[in-house]
Formats: sequence, C-alpha cells, structure tokens
Amino acid sequence: MVAVRRSTLLLIVLSALVWCLGSASAAAAMRVVIGTSVQGRPIVAWTFGSAHAKRKILVVGCIHGNECAGLAITSALRRAPVPNGVQLWIVPEMNPDGTAAGTRQNAHGVDLNRNFPYRWQRISDPVYRSGSRAASEPETRAAMRLVARIRPAGTITYHQHMDLVDMAGGDRGVARRYAQLAGLRATCLTFLAGVETGWSNSSFPGTTSFVVELPAGAVGPRALARHLRAIGGVELGQRSGSATRCDSITQAS
Ligand SMILES: [Zn+2]
Repeated sequence: MVAVRRSTLLLIVLSALVWCLGSASAAAAMRVVIGTSVQGRPIVAWTFGSAHAKRKILVVGCIHGNECAGLAITSALRRAPVPNGVQLWIVPEMNPDGTAAGTRQNAHGVDLNRNFPYRWQRISDPVYRSGSRAASEPETRAAMRLVARIRPAGTITYHQHMDLVDMAGGDRGVARRYAQLAGLRATCLTFLAGVETGWSNSSFPGTTSFVVELPAGAVGPRALARHLRAIGGVELGQRSGSATRCDSITQAS
C-alpha cells in the first residue's frame, strides 16, 4: 500500500515537472494574432525572448505575396537563439491572402506597401494600387498597430528580386551592417509614397526600418546562414558607417 502511494506520488511529481517544462518552452515562443486579412486569415506574429527586453526587433518575411523567399529566413529564424536583452518579433506573412493567391496585392487588389500613411498618394496603376485612402487595408493597420505597440529598434522586411538592401530613411548604419553581413549591396532606392519604411522611420525617430530585396528564386543554405548572421547584427545593435549617408558599398565580409 505504501509502495503504491509512493509510486503515485512519484507520478504526480513527474507530471508536474513535465507540465512546468512544457510551460517554460511555450513561454519562450508565443503566438500572437495581430490582425485579420480581408479574407479572414489571421496575421500571426511569433515572439521570442523576454517581453521586458528593452530592444525589440521585428522581422517580416513577406508583404508582397509573390515575393516570399524571405519565409525561408523567418522559418529558420524561429529556431535560432535570441540574444539576452532582445525580444524578437517575427511576422512571416503580413499579406496572407496575397501569399495564398500568389499576388503582390492583398485581396482588395491593393499594394500594401503603398498604403501606409506617410506621404500617401493615390496610385491607380493596378500593380501598385495604393487603396482608397491611407491605411485603408486591414493588413496595413495590423502592421501599424504592431509597430506602434512594440516600437522596434530595427524592422527588417523582405522583398524580391532586386538583390540589395534599401537602407531607406532610418539609421543607415544599421542597414549597411546588415548588407555587409548578408553579402548584399547597400543603397537607397528612390523614395516611394505610402511605403512602410517611410511611415515607420518618420513616425518613430531613433528606430530603423529597412528593406532587404532578396534575389529571384529560393534562398540557398549559404545565403540563409548569412542572413541569420545579419539579423543577429541588428539584434545586437551593430552598425557600420554613417547614419545618414546614402551610399553604395560592396560586400565587406
Ligand atoms: Zn516588394
């Protein structure tokens, strides 16, 4: 009888231990629904690291649904360690309807990266349609709510197929360092109305949002390793050169 009680007790202790371990790993990676697409798909963010971390980093795998090579990077990033003092937010798909349909635009035919409310302009070209007004689209508003809530020190959004880093208007030293580590050319593309980088960099001074234009095709294992290293550089606050100068540099490492 005593033996049975002891084994029962042992089972309870073991169950509690397994439950605790399970809770710890669940707390390390949290799934957050940040909004809903036009067609009702959840827009999902994954968070890693402490919510109390001072430095938040946001990585968006795909916003133009036909430029989604970055999903391989966000997928691998979810298995990579996060440095202490950093909370990493990953949104694999900011435009899940576009990804499902293989279209650049969302289900309203709007180019989300022309729909942000910084120097928004009406664009009727069906490729770059800007929407009926600034932030007219639920996906745009979900992205804005997230950025306003977490104020990421660094935001990286993947596009294709230009094979470069567009340093945009934040701290270009941060984007330049990413480009060096990723083995890409860093440059400043012409300003465009209604883009996420323009809105984020102008709304939250001291933060940096930039674009990584991956080459066409899939991200190979060597490139993947370099991009993970480059994200690590952003997580650690690494930067290179001028914060403002818009230049073009060749691969440095
Ligand atoms: Zn794009």
